[in-house]
Amino acid sequence: MKYELIIIGAGVWGSSAALRAVTSGLHSVLLIEANAGVAMESSAKAGGVVTNLLWGSENVAWVKRSRQLFQTAYDASRDRSILQPYGMITLFDESVENFVRQRTRELNDDDTPAEIWSSDRIVSEFPDLDRLPSSVQGLWTPNDQHVNPTAYAQAVVNLARDAGLSVRLGQRVMRIDVQSSAVSVHLAKETIQAERVLVAAGTWTGKIVETAGFHVPLRPYRVQLASLHMPEGYRLPMVWELATDVYLVPDGPHNLLAGDGTRLYEHDPDHYQTSGDDDFISDIAAQTMRLTSRAQNAGLRQAWAGLCGGTPDRQPLIGPLTSRLFVACGDQGIGVMRGPALGELAADVALGQAQAPHLNPMRYQGHRDFPIRAGFTLES
Ligand SMILES: Cc1cc2nc3c(=O)[nH]c(=O)nc-3n(C[C@H](O)[C@H](O)[C@H](O)COP(=O)(O)OP(=O)(O)OC[C@H]3O[C@@H](n4cnc5c(N)ncnc54)[C@H](O)[C@@H]3O)c2cc1C
Repeated sequence: MKYELIIIGAGVWGSSAALRAVTSGLHSVLLIEANAGVAMESSAKAGGVVTNLLWGSENVAWVKRSRQLFQTAYDASRDRSILQPYGMITLFDESVENFVRQRTRELNDDDTPAEIWSSDRIVSEFPDLDRLPSSVQGLWTPNDQHVNPTAYAQAVVNLARDAGLSVRLGQRVMRIDVQSSAVSVHLAKETIQAERVLVAAGTWTGKIVETAGFHVPLRPYRVQLASLHMPEGYRLPMVWELATDVYLVPDGPHNLLAGDGTRLYEHDPDHYQTSGDDDFISDIAAQTMRLTSRAQNAGLRQAWAGLCGGTPDRQPLIGPLTSRLFVACGDQGIGVMRGPALGELAADVALGQAQAPHLNPMRYQGHRDFPIRAGFTLES
């Protein structure tokens, strides 16, 4: 049998692409995932922050579309963990005040609620942020959400299965070959044919397409997150401190996720340290305590690291390598909040239903050692 489309990778991007493909009228779509379940790699390790406070109008548009798709998955599955409406407070000092005020106006002009609060107002609204210096201000964006990427991906794959998607879990793609009439996808004990293949395998995408002789300008870098046990409980929104890049995400009444940005050098997705670094582990509780006394007795539950994919211009790589082989990768650490929209776009491009030449993966041919830059920033 030859599938019309095979999608490799069932993270947020690949799962979203699969749903789009089967609801676009294709009859034979196969989603292949190396792990035993969907979204167990970067998507499972994410903080799950969803915000319109991103650089670039196209990124904001992708977040807006993704919010609709998160909501659809939530409505279909009734899994309440998919979406949580926490809101976010972005802490900043006067050195960036003018810039943040400008971004606030831009958000408001785009109908996104956003207002600047003094430190007194922050503490009156969220008394647990009781350690802020009086010089700090906050940009309050009440519509920001937390999403559970694995629950979202599971809901989407369930919907897609109902619409005819075939799924193979626990099957690693070893190699692909592109021929003139088909693409061969080699698993450990079997080869499957497809008219087209979309590789949406996150930071593994580069390695997979290399087996077919292609290069994509993608450099995987490492991001860490910790889960803190908060024995006294707390009441916090999502918090992002611009000066340090520390961010906090509520995760239940006695659990708080805390991260501090990124390690901006290249890692091999098959060989990287998946646990947190010692200095990160020793530092992150203290960083959290600087913001809230509620973390005074916090204990570390777990610290982990995952990979994000950097590209030369921090924009995703979506489109064809040949007429039969397509990629969707280059998340820049903001790939959950844009992932559903980008998965959808990738499927549309692979099926010839949309074009995105500015995201074409060949646009930076030959770029290998470009600087890795974080994606979750205010600056374009
Ligand atoms: C610590 C951390 C915090 C983050 N926080 C946020 C956040 O708050 N908000 C946000 O928007 N983003 C965040 N991100 C980024 C986000 O996690 C990624 O952008 C997103 O998960 C990318 O999704 P994906 O589907 O492209 O990749 P993945 O989720 O990695 O999915 C790729 C899939 O491909 C599969 N695969 C790989 N190789 C093969 C193969 N050979 N055969 C078959 N299957 C294969 C993998 O098993 C995997 O399931 C964070 C990332 C990290 C690491």
